[in-house]
Amino acid sequence: MSSGDSSTSRPARSWRPRTRQVRGGLERTGFSETSEALFLTSGYVYGSAAEAEHSFDGTLDRMVYSRFKNPTVAMFEQRLAEIEGAAACRATASGMAAVHAALMCQLKAGDRVVASRALFGSCQWIINELMPRFGIERVFVDGPDIGAWERALSKPTACVFIETPANPTLEIIDVRAVADLVHKAGARLVVDNVFATPILQSPLDLGADIVVYSATKHIDGQGRCLGGAVLGDLAFCQDVLGPYLRNTGPALSPFNAWVLLKGLETLDLRIERHCANAMKIARFLEGRPEVARVLYPGLESHPQHELAARQMRGWGSILALELKGGKAAAYRLLDNLELIDISNNLGDSKSLITHPWTTTHQRLSPDDKLAMGIGEGLVRLSVGLEDGDDLVEDLERALTA
Ligand SMILES: *Cc1c(COP(=O)(O)O)cnc(C)c1O
Repeated sequence: MSSGDSSTSRPARSWRPRTRQVRGGLERTGFSETSEALFLTSGYVYGSAAEAEHSFDGTLDRMVYSRFKNPTVAMFEQRLAEIEGAAACRATASGMAAVHAALMCQLKAGDRVVASRALFGSCQWIINELMPRFGIERVFVDGPDIGAWERALSKPTACVFIETPANPTLEIIDVRAVADLVHKAGARLVVDNVFATPILQSPLDLGADIVVYSATKHIDGQGRCLGGAVLGDLAFCQDVLGPYLRNTGPALSPFNAWVLLKGLETLDLRIERHCANAMKIARFLEGRPEVARVLYPGLESHPQHELAARQMRGWGSILALELKGGKAAAYRLLDNLELIDISNNLGDSKSLITHPWTTTHQRLSPDDKLAMGIGEGLVRLSVGLEDGDDLVEDLERALTA
């Protein structure tokens, strides 16, 4: 940005991660405000007709229109890039806008895409329903099965999309092993890092090319607004993604960017509490007779616990549990909770619970749900920031009601 105060220009590289969450990307105006300024403006004015001309022909680097760039959005992008350790970041209006743009900006008819089977419902829709309409071939693979990845990536491929940990089964994919196979096949690896957040997992360090976020989840973390982000190298973000965003327009509103920017300042503190609460609840549920199994990467019983320990710095805020009594038992649990709310959102300060079979994954066929590991008795719990003992008591009461 051209109007920044030089007092903020200390190279971010020398800052530790915690400092980058609070200070990264800060550009003060001439008013020397403490907190980041909120630029609610769609356009910008020029001092002369020639200045306008040079702003459009690229000889002048300045704000032109908020669909292209906005100072508050740019601060959010810069701060998230510094936290992630990415060369560049572009923000979008929602997580799905980020996933859609990150994939479609680089694909064309005749391309081949490989994806993990256990995906967030709308990500699955883009790959399974939308891509074939444009002549893009898609192949789904069981994420943890490296042999299946080897077979799927033995043909030239343009792009690979994975989610780890996956929603809602908490399945973990070996990012480094898949990245090696992806690059041999000549493809780019896109990782949906929503469940882990930049605090708990760095896909770019594990070999991924692009990371996508729904900032709606933990980055806001307080259930207030939608947002998304795509991170990667400069060539991808400027030359491939940039023109796609500029001309199709899924721009993040400056107001939401401002909310998300403030969310980043407390991200690691909140994730620490989320993780501590989730671990406490996972241990409690594991000992309950009503529960057939608990899916949480932090439990030794999780099928990819060792892999999660290698590639993650913590276990996250989301867990799933399979109730012995199927759908009836799942509904009984949800309906008897007094503190934990029934909601399909996640990554909120408030604990939220949902029944994926009938909500987030309702549109999938029963066979597809079962293939993804979603049974009728499965319940997903997004653990919030309340006192962990209150959450355990609420679950205990509802399980025995
Ligand atoms: C919520 C979510 C998305 C979509 O994000 P929105 O902000 O709701 O559009 C994508 N991937 C995962 C894993 C999610 O949890």
